[in-house]
Amino acid sequence: MKNSGIAFTLIAITLLSCKSGGVDQKGVADHKEIAPKNVILLISDGTGLTQISSAFFFKETLPQYSRFKHIGLINTPSSRQNVTDSGAAATAFACGVKTYNGAIGVADDSTDVKNLVEIASLQNIKTGVIATSSITHATPASFYAHTVSRALDEDIAMQLVHSEIDFFAGGGLQFFNKRKDEQNLLIELEEKQFTIDTLRLKAYSNIRSNSKAAFLLANNAMAPASEGRGNFLLKATELSLKFLSKDQSNFFVMIEGSQIDWAGHSNNSEYLVTELNDFDDAIGIALDYAEKDGNTLVIVTSDHETGGFTLAAKTKKSEDGSEYSDYSEIGMTFSTTGHTATLIPVFAYGPGAEEFNGIYENTEIFDKILKVTNWTRGN
Ligand code: MG
Ligand code: ZN
Repeated sequence: MKNSGIAFTLIAITLLSCKSGGVDQKGVADHKEIAPKNVILLISDGTGLTQISSAFFFKETLPQYSRFKHIGLINTPSSRQNVTDSGAAATAFACGVKTYNGAIGVADDSTDVKNLVEIASLQNIKTGVIATSSITHATPASFYAHTVSRALDEDIAMQLVHSEIDFFAGGGLQFFNKRKDEQNLLIELEEKQFTIDTLRLKAYSNIRSNSKAAFLLANNAMAPASEGRGNFLLKATELSLKFLSKDQSNFFVMIEGSQIDWAGHSNNSEYLVTELNDFDDAIGIALDYAEKDGNTLVIVTSDHETGGFTLAAKTKKSEDGSEYSDYSEIGMTFSTTGHTATLIPVFAYGPGAEEFNGIYENTEIFDKILKVTNWTRGN
C-alpha cells in the first residue's frame, strides 16, 4: 500500500497549500470563498477596445490596462434600443436592470430600482462617486438617484444630498446653488456633516476628521484634462480611497472618466487620447491600492463605445495622386458622432476577479458584484 501513502501525502500537501493560499493575498483571486471587502468600479464613458488600444500607441508609459489578467466582454443594448445611452447603461451596472435610454436608476416601467450605493450602505459600507462631468450627469447619477429622465439635474442633485454617499467629487455646482427652487443645497450638505470645497481637492489631512466630503469644482462639466483639469481624476481617486477606507471602513466607489465619450461625439482624437490616458492613470491608482490591500476588487469597464473609432493605417497620396494606406503610421478616424453597439471590454483584479471573465450582458456586472461580495439586497 505504498502508493496510497504517497497519495495521502499529496492530498495533505494540497490541502495545506490551499489553506496558506487563503492567507497569501497575491493568491486570493483564485479563491472564490474569499469575498472582497471593497469594490472600486472604474467606468470610462464611450470607450471601446479601439479607444483602449490607442493608449498602447499614444501613451508614453505602458498602459495600466496591461496589468489585468481577468478580462471579459459585455453586450450593451438597453431595454428598447440596440444602441444604449449612458443612463440606461449605468443603470444596468448600478441596479442590474435593462431600462430605456435616458433613464436613471429606474426600470423600463419607470419604477425605482435599488442601486449599488443603497445596497452597499445596507451592509455599512462607505460609498463614493467621482466624475469629470457634472456629478449629476447620467453615469454617476445612476449610482445614487432615481429619475425618469437624465435631464433632471436639479432633482438628481437633491437626491445626492439625501443619498448615502460619503464622498463625491466632480462638477455640477450650479445644480446645488443656482437652482430654480432657489434652495442652496450646499447648506443642506453641511447640515449632513459634509465638508465642502468648490475650488480644489483638499489634502487628506484636512478632511480626515470629517465624516463626509464633497468637491464641486465646476459649475457644470469640469474642463478637459488638457485645458485645466490636470490630474484631478488621479488625485480624486487617491483621496477617495484614503477617505473611504479610514477607520478600517469598507467601501464601494465609482470613478468615471466622463469625457472620452465627449471626445468621441466630437470626433476629436487628440481630446480622446488625453482623456483616455488620464483615465488610465486613475486605473493605476486603483490597482496599486488593491495590490497593497489584498481585499479590494477593481473592475474597469465602459458603458458603450462612442464615435466608431478606428486606428486605421494612415491614408496618404502617392506621387501619381492615387491614395494608399501607410502601415507605418496610424490615422485615427471615426464613423459616427453617436454611440455604437460594439461589445465592451471588462477588466477585473482582486478577489472575485475571475467571475468577470467571459461574454455576458451589462446587467451582469451588477449581479457579479453582488455574488462575489455577498452583499444582500434587503427588501
Ligand atoms: Mg458618463
Ligand atoms: Zn455619449
